[in-house]
Amino acid sequence: MPYLVRENLFIGNIGDAAEVLQNGSTEITHILSVLSSASISFFSEWKKGLTIPTKEIKKVYTGGSVGGSASVDDSGDGSKSCLLSDKLLYLLEYAGKDLKLVRMGVPLRDMENENLLDYLDVCLDFIDKSRKEGSVLVHCFAGVSRSAAIITAYLMRTEHLSQEDALGSLRQSCEFVCPNDGFLDQLKMYEEMGFKVDHASPIYKSFHLKVLGESYHRGDKIDSSKFGADPGLPIEVASGVESAQNGGKTGTTAFRCKKCRRVVALQDNVVDHIPGEGEKSFEWRKRKSSNLSEDSECSSIFVEPLRWMTAVEEGALEGKLSCAHCEARLGYFNWSGIQCSCGSWITPAFQLHRSRVDVSTV
Ligand SMILES: [Zn+2]
Ligand SMILES: [Zn+2]
Repeated sequence: MPYLVRENLFIGNIGDAAEVLQNGSTEITHILSVLSSASISFFSEWKKGLTIPTKEIKKVYTGGSVGGSASVDDSGDGSKSCLLSDKLLYLLEYAGKDLKLVRMGVPLRDMENENLLDYLDVCLDFIDKSRKEGSVLVHCFAGVSRSAAIITAYLMRTEHLSQEDALGSLRQSCEFVCPNDGFLDQLKMYEEMGFKVDHASPIYKSFHLKVLGESYHRGDKIDSSKFGADPGLPIEVASGVESAQNGGKTGTTAFRCKKCRRVVALQDNVVDHIPGEGEKSFEWRKRKSSNLSEDSECSSIFVEPLRWMTAVEEGALEGKLSCAHCEARLGYFNWSGIQCSCGSWITPAFQLHRSRVDVSTV
């Protein structure tokens, strides 16, 4: 039986969802399925002989321009999810008896290193909309981790609760829920970002870099679509929302190649670290206050990977970073990390030597 969390909002497991999809429900009109596959075929793999009729409404991918990203919702936020390029963000379909239910399938595994943040906006918007039109069941496989993480985020956003309070409140409806530790970390970041997924925030940037590093070490091909826009290119050429954001800003700090003056990074691309502190996976709360160049004693500036770093795309663990215009040596990258002169380890690291760049304002 699904548990009622709020008016028109239920949490459940795959069995609860299968029951509603097979036999219909007097209450539930919408289903948010958060399973390792978005496809309805997951249900027939789970239980032999179970077939659920569906009719696709749309499939939405993010990142690249391929396959339906044009239909990413009107807010335009989907296109910012550079981590998810070419990946299915969600599937929307009519499902069940007489195709009366609206089902959104979101592919998400229950793993600590799974990127929950990039799926939150679409999931929470779906829950909001569904509750206005009827009642929504949010389910994963066991109804313990993934669905609970999404509902926790939903309660955080709608009721402005901390991660702890939102989870505590959810446990009053369903006491055994327990999002995995990686999801709890991400929900904490969500709280720190003000109940939104802010791709420009240092919290998100550190997270993004960590996810990218894990992806590299898993053996995924890292292509430049996952990198930040090249700040040295004119805005019309550099694609992506990041560049548009930078383009709108004046008075931002730019780092230029000392030899040829080409812009190689903007302050927005910098991944801050606290001088002298060891790498603890998420020191984002302290990072927040460290912000601008407290790190004057550091000999290096660490940035997110940018599209001019073609050497990174070749797949090596480490290598030189050279200016895209004059080929002067600017720094080094290493997916396993680099130690700054202050003692901090940055992992993965995309490093510019302070002595090789000039700082100016654009
Ligand atoms: Zn340092
Ligand atoms: Zn240069």
